[in-house]
Amino acid sequence: MIRNTCIRSGVLAIISGVRPYFKKKYLKSLRLRIVFWLMVVGVIPCLIIRLIMLESYERRAVDVRTAEIQNQCTILCNQLGSSKYLVNGTSEVIRTELTQLSSIYNGRILVVDDELRIVEDTYNLEKGKIIISKDIIKCLKGKGNSHYDKKNHYIEVTTPILEEDEKVSGVMLVSVSTDTIAATMDMLRVKSNIAGGIIGIAVLVLAVILGTVMMRPFERITRSIEAVTEGYEDNYLQENTYAETMRISEAFNKMLGRLKVLDESRQEFVSNVSHELKTPLTSMKVLADSLLAQQDVPVEIYQEFMTDMSEEIERENKIINDLLSLVRMDKTASALNIKSENINELVERILKRLRPIAAKNNIELVYESFRPVTAEVDEVKLTLAISNLVENAIKYNHENGWVHVSLNADHRYFYIEVADSGIGIPEESKEHIFERFYRVDKSHSREIGGTGLGLSIARSVVVMHRGAIKVFSQVGEGTTFTVRIPISYVV
Ligand code: ADP
Repeated sequence: MIRNTCIRSGVLAIISGVRPYFKKKYLKSLRLRIVFWLMVVGVIPCLIIRLIMLESYERRAVDVRTAEIQNQCTILCNQLGSSKYLVNGTSEVIRTELTQLSSIYNGRILVVDDELRIVEDTYNLEKGKIIISKDIIKCLKGKGNSHYDKKNHYIEVTTPILEEDEKVSGVMLVSVSTDTIAATMDMLRVKSNIAGGIIGIAVLVLAVILGTVMMRPFERITRSIEAVTEGYEDNYLQENTYAETMRISEAFNKMLGRLKVLDESRQEFVSNVSHELKTPLTSMKVLADSLLAQQDVPVEIYQEFMTDMSEEIERENKIINDLLSLVRMDKTASALNIKSENINELVERILKRLRPIAAKNNIELVYESFRPVTAEVDEVKLTLAISNLVENAIKYNHENGWVHVSLNADHRYFYIEVADSGIGIPEESKEHIFERFYRVDKSHSREIGGTGLGLSIARSVVVMHRGAIKVFSQVGEGTTFTVRIPISYVV
């Protein structure tokens, strides 16, 4: 029982967690927003037009009715004034006309004298009584008026009764029902509601269709991206329906292209690594097998083969070390150990270590420093990069050649130049020398212990320091590498 309750509460917790997610996702739907805004744009003007039309119809109907009543009243008041009805009060003709007018307009007519006494009431209810009303008092001063009571559905018109000498002798007060106008309004409202409903449904259907059609290119893009995620890598996008989808397609295709290049270079790197690691192993196996195949091998041969094997092991070791440096470089791209370093001392330390190697090959190693330089660098990594450049300058040099290292700086950067009098790099190889495992002359590089990773490591280090590395070379004349690194490390 307890277990069931737990499971149920767990499921409920999941559902209640999922519901807001769906709600949020649904509310964020572009299609829903398109439908909503099309509805707003389509329906709101209809509602406003409906309101304006009903209002203006009502105003116009009331105005027409008021004008009609005012006309009739003016005619009757003139008759009342000229027949001195308020003095004599006996004209049957006028009384009949009053009754007729009240029945035509389904209203009530009061005739009030200048002492506010009701002289005539077509409803025969208030005759002889005194009536005090703002409108009547105003009218007795000669100014007739009218007003429309929308709530109780009637129009009230007051008209002064003028005698021949233009003296106001009384007031005629007519109140007329506007039920017919209200009934017409109700009918118009029902009809406009039906029309509005039809328009609303039509707009909704149109909005849904439009929303669906407009969203189709985006759905196709999503499907293509999903296909790529599932592994169909050749799915280049060609979605030209809108300028926006064209831009998405272009950006996506660019990204796909880059991913492919990355994937190819990863595959190439893996096969290069396997090949490079296998080569010394194969040599060692050949050496060991040939020793094993012979009997009573002289000690000198053993020693010679063992020396070769030791060299191969050394080489394997160097490749693994260089690979580890590269991998570490990739991993810690964001974790440079930046410190303020004296670059003159750093270069001097490197050259001190490499001087014996240069001397062994009769190569003159010269250092020229134009100014003291202190900069924010990762000492270990920068040492590795500069060492690789100077080692190459020594390795790919002629007997009795020279290597010239110089250090200079301006207010933003310091510059290290490594120039040599060596074999040079052919024009077509220049763009490849920074690639992993690339070597201009494989056998020569191998002979002198190259792994094809040195320049790749150097470039990674320089780029990590937000710097730049360039090469200038002429086959047979020599090579110059220039490195430019900001004095202050830019995060
Ligand atoms: P390696 O370990 O083979 O020296 P690098 O990445 O350091 O690998 O260099 C790549 C290739 O560029 C080398 O194999 C060599 O052919 C060429 N190279 C590098 N530096 C020089 C140089 N100073 N002079 C001539 N060729 C060079």
